[in-house]
Amino acid sequence: MATIFTKIAQGEIPSYKCAENDEFYAFLDINPLVKGHTLVIPRREVDYIFDMEDDEIGRYQIFAKKVARAIKAAFPCIKVGEAVLGLEVNHAHIHLVPMQSEKDLNFANAKLKLEPAEMQEIADKIYAEFQKL
Ligand code: 5GP
Repeated sequence: MATIFTKIAQGEIPSYKCAENDEFYAFLDINPLVKGHTLVIPRREVDYIFDMEDDEIGRYQIFAKKVARAIKAAFPCIKVGEAVLGLEVNHAHIHLVPMQSEKDLNFANAKLKLEPAEMQEIADKIYAEFQKL
């Protein structure tokens, strides 16, 4: 059975798209730590990121780098943090989180509850910056 993130990448389940190419897809985390919290996934199903072959994980990180640059342009921050947990969804995903301090990358923090219109606005801003790269 397809994972929820495969369904998202295929458009079967809606998401707030931030960036994409043939191999990878980036969209807003539905329960963001901060505005701009984005997930980057491979379109193909692989559970554990460190099971990926070197060349694939290389392309994955290069794509994530571009998404991180787009996030930083859209949401000025000190740095964009990267985290891999994967304890909830068994489809590899990189969290990219714009940080004003180390506290922003604490997954135990309360998550933001944003209206759909604001989520769309955030995704559109990141998408627009990604197109410029
Ligand atoms: P992890 O597997 O890294 O521990 O956590 C999974 C992350 O995916 C969480 O931050 C959660 O908010 C996010 N997430 C889970 N289900 C969905 C979903 O259906 N859509 C989106 N956009 N994010 C999701």
